[in-house]
Amino acid sequence: MPLDPICKKIISDNTEYFSDYGGKHYYFCSTECKHKFDTLEKSVIRLKRSLSEKEKISFGKLKRDIIKPGICTLCGACAASCEYITIKDGKPELVGPCKACGVCYYQCPRTITTEEGLIGSFRYAYAAKSAIPEIQGQDGGVVTSLLLYALDEGLIDCAVVTIRSEEEPWKPIPIVARTREEILKSSGSIYSHSMTLEALMSAVKQGMNSVAFVGTSCNIDAVTKMQRSSYGFLHLFMRAKVLKLGLFCMDTFSYEGIKAVLESYGITLDNVDAMKIRKGKFEVTLKDGKEHVFELSDFDEYRSSSCRFCTDLTAENSDISFGGVGSPKGYTTVLARSAIGYEIFNEAVDNGYIEARQLTDDELERVLNLAKMKKVQMYALHMRQKA
Ligand SMILES: Cc1cc2nc3c(=O)[nH]c(=O)nc-3n(C[C@H](O)[C@H](O)[C@H](O)COP(=O)(O)OP(=O)(O)OC[C@H]3O[C@@H](n4cnc5c(N)ncnc54)[C@H](O)[C@@H]3O)c2cc1C
Ligand code: SF4
Ligand code: SF4
Ligand code: SF4
Repeated sequence: MPLDPICKKIISDNTEYFSDYGGKHYYFCSTECKHKFDTLEKSVIRLKRSLSEKEKISFGKLKRDIIKPGICTLCGACAASCEYITIKDGKPELVGPCKACGVCYYQCPRTITTEEGLIGSFRYAYAAKSAIPEIQGQDGGVVTSLLLYALDEGLIDCAVVTIRSEEEPWKPIPIVARTREEILKSSGSIYSHSMTLEALMSAVKQGMNSVAFVGTSCNIDAVTKMQRSSYGFLHLFMRAKVLKLGLFCMDTFSYEGIKAVLESYGITLDNVDAMKIRKGKFEVTLKDGKEHVFELSDFDEYRSSSCRFCTDLTAENSDISFGGVGSPKGYTTVLARSAIGYEIFNEAVDNGYIEARQLTDDELERVLNLAKMKKVQMYALHMRQKA
């Protein structure tokens, strides 16, 4: 005996109220139930049509991203939204011909389906580079140029940045930079944790009220917590304003680990001019101009354990975020997020410190893809550990 899908009453299949959808018959106890069902089904058909115009997402993707890694909460939203899905043996299963409409994927609470869910909110995305010839940045030198602009205009008292130790080359040393020379010295990336918060607190305790702070996503999170939490330290310094400049970040490695791997290839750190992680490779440029490319997996055992649990590629809590992914070589990808971040970045462009253009959709897509990889890496790691 069929079940009325609206009022859930068992009814006879001789009922005069029925509808056909997706090759399936539905029976109702009354014209009211049939009307409710038809209205709902039309909305579902509309939703499926608009989603399938966007991209093809099948049940296979839901299985791969959510069900197989074991992060399905068994909420049943996918089964409730598609007649071809049923919950069997404690997990959703496909029992009919999937039309790749994507509806189940979009209902699942564990999938990330919005741009904002992947890289946070932002006003504008740019590909930018420094317009100051003496700046040799990691990518486009935009962070350094922006800091110089803010210092020159008197918008900041100092900048918290990270430089390389002179005694132990490539060991990160966080400093409070007050001069142009100190800021210029800080350009380039060091792939080890820098204790930037110590320098920030030192600047604030010295009475510096307007501080530009440069750090990775986790550094930015620390500042944000100190600003927002009721027990946060920055509450005690009410005049202190911190402009948060976040760096995209996939991983860091211990200083000793980087040193050991490079030395195993006969490279000493005092001979290294630049390091760059790109497309799964660790690239090293020596002072004599020679380039070496290593597999990132060579450094795996020295990867910071905290990075394995980090899901924020783009420093979502920053005023402005900066990264290499997305933009062409020699450019920095910039996400202007807060009102103040947007203003300062555009002022620096208008005043000739930075050249910028809008990031194209394809370039932004590359940022989104990497961000997605990072958001789900915890699940992937869990799977690897089980294997
Ligand atoms: C550890 C780390 C990992 C990164 N991973 C990625 C990635 O996976 N994908 C991606 O697209 N981009 C990544 N980036 C960001 C990228 O390397 C550049 O920093 C960014 O594109 C800005 O380039 P720029 O030329 O404009 O910056 P520059 O003008 O060269 O300025 C660089 C700034 O970085 C700061 N800095 C350097 N090392 C550190 C550190 N260890 N901790 C805190 N601040 C530091 C310096 O103080 C300086 O202000 C990473 C950066 C770091 C530090
Ligand atoms: S809702 Fe159904 S038809 Fe659509 S993708 Fe999911 S399983 Fe396939
Ligand atoms: S919607 Fe997602 S979390 Fe809910 S049962 Fe389906 S796969 Fe699991
Ligand atoms: S991957 Fe995350 S935890 Fe690791 S250094 Fe980068 S922002 Fe910090």
